[in-house]
Amino acid sequence: MTNLLEVQHLEKTFGEHQVLKDINLQVEPGEVLSIIGSSGSGKSTLLRCINLLEQPTNGVIQFHGENILTPKFDVATYRAKVGMVFQSFNLFNNLNVLQNCTVGQTTVLHRDAITAKKIALEQLEKVGMAPYVNAKPAQLSGGQMQRVGIARAVSMSPEILLFDEPTSALDPEMVDDVLDSMRALAHTGLTMILVTHEMAFARDISDHVVFMDQGVIAEEGTAEQIFSHPQEERTQAFLKRYL
Ligand code: ADP
Ligand code: MG
Repeated sequence: MTNLLEVQHLEKTFGEHQVLKDINLQVEPGEVLSIIGSSGSGKSTLLRCINLLEQPTNGVIQFHGENILTPKFDVATYRAKVGMVFQSFNLFNNLNVLQNCTVGQTTVLHRDAITAKKIALEQLEKVGMAPYVNAKPAQLSGGQMQRVGIARAVSMSPEILLFDEPTSALDPEMVDDVLDSMRALAHTGLTMILVTHEMAFARDISDHVVFMDQGVIAEEGTAEQIFSHPQEERTQAFLKRYL
C-alpha cells in the first residue's frame, strides 16, 4: 500500500538547538499513529513540521508520494487537507460555534454557505455540540470547546488529522467526552496522528506508536509492542510514570 504520509530524515533546528534529529515515519491511509514522549522531546515540533507551521531544516516529507518541501509544492491546498486540533482549542472567539465550523469551508474550500452549514451541523451532531450552534466559545466549557475544535477540523474533510495533546488543557471530568469523539472518528477510518499523554487511550486506538526522546524516535512499534513489551530502557522508564 502507498503511504499517505512519509517522513524521511527530518531535522529541525532552532538557532543552535537541534530539536528533531533524523525522524523517519510512515502513515498509511486509515492508520492511527500516536506519538508519546516527555515534554520537550519534540512532539509538537514534529506535528508542526508535518503541517508546515514550521519549516523543517532538512529532510523530506512526502504526501501521496510528493515531497511537500519543494518550492513548487502547493502549500495552500496541502494545508486544507491536513487538519489540526490544538491543545488550546484555537477557536475564533468572535464567531459562534456554527460559524467556527463553516468559515474555513467557505473561505478555503469555497463551499457554498448551505453546504458548509449542513456539513458543520453533521459534525457538531457527532460530537454532541449541535445544541450549542449559537453559543460563543467563551460560553462553553473546555471540553465543549475542544469538541467544537474537532467538529471544525473534520468539517474541512481532511485527509489526515493531527491532534496535539487535545485533552491536556481540560478538567479531568471533560476528558472522556473528547476522547469518545476522537475514538468515533478513528472508527470512521480517518487517518490520525495523535500526540497524547492519555496512555490507555493511545493503547486502545493506535495502530502504531512512536516514542520520542530528546528529538529522536527512541522506539516504535504496534500499541501492543510499545505498551506491553517496550524494549528500550528509556521507553520503559517513561511508561512507568503512567502506571
Ligand atoms: P514537546 O511537544 O514534545 O513538548 P516541543 O516540540 O514543543 O516538545 O519542543 C521541543 C524543543 O524545541 C523544546 O526544547 C522547545 O523549547 C524547543 N522549541 C520549540 N519551538 C521552538 C521555537 N519556536 N523556538 C525555539 N525553540 C523551540
Ligand atoms: Mg507539545
